Amino acid sequence: RSTRDYQQLDAAHHINAFLDQKALNQEGPRVMAEGRGVYLWDTDGKRYLDGMSGLWCTQVGYGRQELIAAAARQLQQLSYYNVFFHTTHPAVNELSERLFSLLPGDYRHVIYTNSGSEANELLIRCVRRYWDVMGKPDKKIFIGRHNGYHGSTVGSASLGGMKFMHEMGDLPIPGVEHIGEPYWFAHGGGLSPEAFGRQCAQELEDKILALGADKVAAFVAEPFQGAGGMIFPPESYWPEIQRICRQYDVLLCADEVIGGFGRTGEWFAHQHFHFQPDTLSIAKGLTSGYIPMGGLVLSRRIGETLVEQGGVFAHGLTYSGHPVAAAVALANLGVLQDEGLVERARTDTGPYLQTCLREVFSQHPLVGEIQGAGLVAALQFCRDKTTRQRFADETDISWRCRSIGFDEGVIIRSTLGRMIMAPALVISRGEIDELIDKTRIAVDRTAEEMGL
Ligand code: PLP
Repeated sequence: RSTRDYQQLDAAHHINAFLDQKALNQEGPRVMAEGRGVYLWDTDGKRYLDGMSGLWCTQVGYGRQELIAAAARQLQQLSYYNVFFHTTHPAVNELSERLFSLLPGDYRHVIYTNSGSEANELLIRCVRRYWDVMGKPDKKIFIGRHNGYHGSTVGSASLGGMKFMHEMGDLPIPGVEHIGEPYWFAHGGGLSPEAFGRQCAQELEDKILALGADKVAAFVAEPFQGAGGMIFPPESYWPEIQRICRQYDVLLCADEVIGGFGRTGEWFAHQHFHFQPDTLSIAKGLTSGYIPMGGLVLSRRIGETLVEQGGVFAHGLTYSGHPVAAAVALANLGVLQDEGLVERARTDTGPYLQTCLREVFSQHPLVGEIQGAGLVAALQFCRDKTTRQRFADETDISWRCRSIGFDEGVIIRSTLGRMIMAPALVISRGEIDELIDKTRIAVDRTAEEMGL
C-alpha cells in the first residue's frame, strides 16, 4: 500500500491527537513505518532523526532486540493474567524489585496502570483515600498549575492546567485548583529568576491558606514542565514548594511521566531539582514506549497506611501490571542500567548537547533563552531578548519551525514559542551534531522567512 492509501485510511477513520483533523486530512499526515536507534523512516523511505524520542519516551531507542525478545518470551510463557483473584505473577514482581532498587528515597509501593493519564487519575483516588484512612476526610482539594499537563482523561486533564482542554468538557472537576507556572521568561517581569521562583512558591502558600490547609490534599506538578513548554523552574522554586507542602501537611506529588528514567541525567527529575515527593506518577520511559505501561509510586508513609490500615482499596485495572508490559519494562530498565545510559546523559551526551546548543543558539536573533539539562532542552523564541518580548503569533512561528525540521529530516517539538528536544538516551555525539545542525537550519530558515 502507498503513503496515500494510509493517509486516506487515516482520514476516513482516525481522529488524531490535539489536531484539527479536517486540516490534517487535507495536508495528509506523514506515515511512519520503521524505527532503529534514534532514526525513523516514513513509508516514502525518508529518514528522520527523532529529536523527541517519540513522545519523550523511547529512552533506549527504536528496535532493541532485548525488549523485543523479552516481550516474545513473556507472550509465550504467560501472555496475560490479572492481579485481582488473589493472584500475581513473576514478571510484575521482578519489575517491582528492579524499580524500587532504582528509586531514591523511601518508596515502597506501586500500583501499575497503562498510561500516565491513568496514573494521575489514580492519584486523585489514592490520595483522597489516604486522607480518609488518616482520619482527615476533608483534605480533598488538589492544587495543580496553569499549563501543567498530566494527561487527557477527565481527572488528569483537570489536574493539568491547559485552558483549551478545560474549555472542552467543563473541566476542571470540582476540587481542583491551579496556581501559576514558574515560567520566568514569560511571567518574571522585572524580578530575578530566583525572586520569581520564590514568588511562584508563595502563590502555593497563599492558595493553601485561602482554601484552608485542612482542605488541601496535595500539590501536583511536573518537576520541569513538559507539554506546557519544557520549562525549568528557577532553582529557588522546588525547595520552597517542598517546605510549604511539609509545613501544611499537603502531599507533594511529582509527575515524572516525562522526567523519569534518565531524561535530565538523573533517574528521576526530582533528583535533579533536589526535592523529595510523596508520590511519583510514571509511564513513558518505564518501557521506552514499546508497550503501554504506567504506575503510581507511593512513599512508605502512604503505601503502608493504605495497606496496613486501609483495607480494600476499591481500584483495579484489567491490565494493571500486565505480564508482557512488565517483562518489557524490566528489559528496558536492564538496558538503561547495563549501558549506563542515565550516567552517560549526566556526564557525557547531556552536557555535550547543552554546550553545543548554547554555542550555536545563544547569539541567534530568534532565540531568547536556552534551558535544559541532560537530554532535554528548549529554545525560547522571542522578538526582543533584552525585554523578553514574545511574538504574538509564537505558536505559528514554532509550528513553522517544526515543519521545516520535518522537511530537513529532524523531529523537534514546538510548544507555544519554544522548540523542544528530548532525544533517546542512546543518542551518540555524532547524532547530537546532526540534531543540532538540522535544528539550526530549521531555526535559521524560520528567521529568514520572518525577515530577521
Ligand atoms: N504526565 C505528563 C507530564 C505527560 O507529559 C503526559 C503525556 O505526555 C502524561 C502525564 C499523560 O501520559 P499518557 O499520554 O501516557 O496518558
